[in-house]
Amino acid sequence: MTMDLTFLGTGAAYPSPHRGASALVLRAEGDCWLFDCGEGTQTQLMKSQLRVGCISKIFISHLHGDHLFGLPGLLCTVSLNTNPDPQQALNCVDIYGPRGLRHFLRVTLGLTGSQLLFPYAVHELEPTSDQSPAEGQLSLEMTTDSGPLHPQERSGRTITLDVSTDSYLLFKDKVFVVKAFRLFHRIPSFGFCIQEHDRPGRLRTERLKELGLKPGPLYGCLKAGESVTLDSGLVVQPSDVLEDTIPGRKVCILGDCSSILGTKIFDVCHGADVLVHEATLANQHKDKAVDHGHSTPQMAAAVARVCSAKRLVLYHFSQRYKPSSQQKEGDKDDVTELKRQAEEGLQDCDVEVLLAEDFLSVPVPLRR
Ligand SMILES: [Zn+2]
Ligand SMILES: [Zn+2]
Repeated sequence: MTMDLTFLGTGAAYPSPHRGASALVLRAEGDCWLFDCGEGTQTQLMKSQLRVGCISKIFISHLHGDHLFGLPGLLCTVSLNTNPDPQQALNCVDIYGPRGLRHFLRVTLGLTGSQLLFPYAVHELEPTSDQSPAEGQLSLEMTTDSGPLHPQERSGRTITLDVSTDSYLLFKDKVFVVKAFRLFHRIPSFGFCIQEHDRPGRLRTERLKELGLKPGPLYGCLKAGESVTLDSGLVVQPSDVLEDTIPGRKVCILGDCSSILGTKIFDVCHGADVLVHEATLANQHKDKAVDHGHSTPQMAAAVARVCSAKRLVLYHFSQRYKPSSQQKEGDKDDVTELKRQAEEGLQDCDVEVLLAEDFLSVPVPLRR
C-alpha cells in the first residue's frame, strides 16, 4: 500500500502568495485524510495532484484561524463535487478536533444556509486545563454545541484523555489505529499519531508448492495467521510459509505547540517514520516563539530525538521565511537556516530533516 504526505500550506498565521495556511493530506491507498484546514486550503487542494472529493476524514489540531478558517468552505466545495446519485449512500465525513469545533461548524454552516450532499460527524477531544495559559481556555459556554444538529450532521463522540497512555483513541480499524495527544499552545492544541498495523509477510509460493498446497482458500487462512491441516495429516503453520511480518508505518503530525504534555506519549510516537513538527521561528527568536506558544527548529529536533523518529519534516513557518525558490538576494530570513538549525540539534543521530514547502509530497515507504 502506498502512503504519502502532501503539504498544501506551510505558513503560519495567514495564507500569503508564497505560503498557504496550514493544511496537509495523508494519502493511503487513495483514501485522503486532511490535517488542518487553513483559509485557502480548497484552492491549494485544486492546485495539487489530489482530488477535492477524495477527503474522507478531517483532523483539526486546534481552533486558531490559520488551521480552521478553510473548513466550512472546503466542505461546501467537496459537496459541489459530490455525485448526487440518490441510489448511492454517501459516506459520513468524520471530523476530529478540540471541543468547540462542533459548535463552529454548526454556526458557520447554519448561518450561511449551507447544505451538504453528504453527512458529517464531529468527534470532539476534551482538552485538559494545562494545555494553554488560563486566557486560552475557551469557556464551556463558547464551545458547547447548542440547538439542533445541522441537517447533515450526525452525532459525534466526545473523546476524553486516556491517562494510562497520555493519549486519546480516535479510532481503530483493520488498517490503522489513530490517536491524538496534548500539546501546549496559546489555546489547547493536539498532535495526531497514525499507526498502521503490522501485516503478515508474503506467502512463500515455492514452499507452498513443495507442501502440495494449491492456490485457494487455504492460502487466505495461512495469511490470516491460522494453521492448516492437509489431507496427509500434516499441519502447516503460518510461520512455515510466510515471509517476515511487514511492520506498520507510523506518522506523527503535531499542531502548533511549544511543548508536548505527558511523558508516555513519547512511547506512542516512538520510531515514527515521519514526524511533522512546526518550526515557526529560528532558534535566535526562541523567546518570542515560546511566548506565542510556538517552537524553533532546535525544539522540533529535540522531539524527533526523544521519539527516535526516522524523518523530521518542519512546517508552519513564519511568513517572513519565503520558500527557497522565491528567496531574493539580500533577504535576511533564510528558510534553509531553519533546516540547518534542526540538523545541528540532531548531529549525532540518524534523523533526516526536510523543509516542507507547499505541494511538497513526502513518500512514507514500507519498512523492510
Ligand atoms: Zn498556526
Ligand atoms: Zn495556533
